[in-house]
Amino acid sequence: MIRYNRVVLKISGEAISSEYGVFDINIVESLVNEIRIIYELGVEIGIVIGGGNIMRGGEFSQAGFDRNRSDYMGMLATLINSLLLEQLMNKNGVASIVQSALPIETVVESIDLRKTMAYLGEGKVVIFAAGTGSPHFTTDTAAALRAREINADLLLKATKVSGVYDKDPVRYSDAVHYPTLTYEDVLSKDLAVMDMAAVSLCREKKIPIVVFNIFEHGSIESIIRGKNVGTIIKE
Ligand code: UDP
Repeated sequence: MIRYNRVVLKISGEAISSEYGVFDINIVESLVNEIRIIYELGVEIGIVIGGGNIMRGGEFSQAGFDRNRSDYMGMLATLINSLLLEQLMNKNGVASIVQSALPIETVVESIDLRKTMAYLGEGKVVIFAAGTGSPHFTTDTAAALRAREINADLLLKATKVSGVYDKDPVRYSDAVHYPTLTYEDVLSKDLAVMDMAAVSLCREKKIPIVVFNIFEHGSIESIIRGKNVGTIIKE
């Protein structure tokens, strides 16, 4: 039994990087293998991948660069990651296409939600590149926006840890895991899960968010089947 039929998966840029470089092909392939499990179950999948492994506009602009231009550089970084993911998905039998929030017609289609919906219906994964297309936003917000636009029933936020904790579980062995949180908890406790705009966008449409460790084999499948994995944020 599948609990969720149409989802948006947010992957941070950092998740695909390693000590060997801005992207580690083995890591991306292992992600593709996890995604393939739910793809084969027939789940309709939209993906937003960040660009933090290459470029973060906010940080970069602190060195004296224009913030808007820096953010465009960040959005283009997400396009690089999206093109890599698209190729590895298709190579591994997961039919995928990139649509970009910034028009770059020689390389990718621009986002056209009618086409997006047709692709999802045909069983193609749609990878949304270039964030929201506007500076001063994040790809978390883009993921929440796309989840609303395609009427997804779940937003999956892939991280390197198994959900939300009261403090960083990598640094503190006594960190407490939250199995469930409300949108309000996240907003009021200022938990560093996703940015506030993304949480607010999901709250308005009651789209649950599951924060989970995508590197735990089978976790994404368990979530789709309605099992309690990671942390679920809902009403
Ligand atoms: N960005 C932007 N608008 C958006 C999404 C992203 O300007 O709608 C820029 C911003 O500079 C950001 C960078 O792209 O720092 C990379 O995105 P993000 O930091 O969200 O990537 P992640 O941390 O998820 O890898």
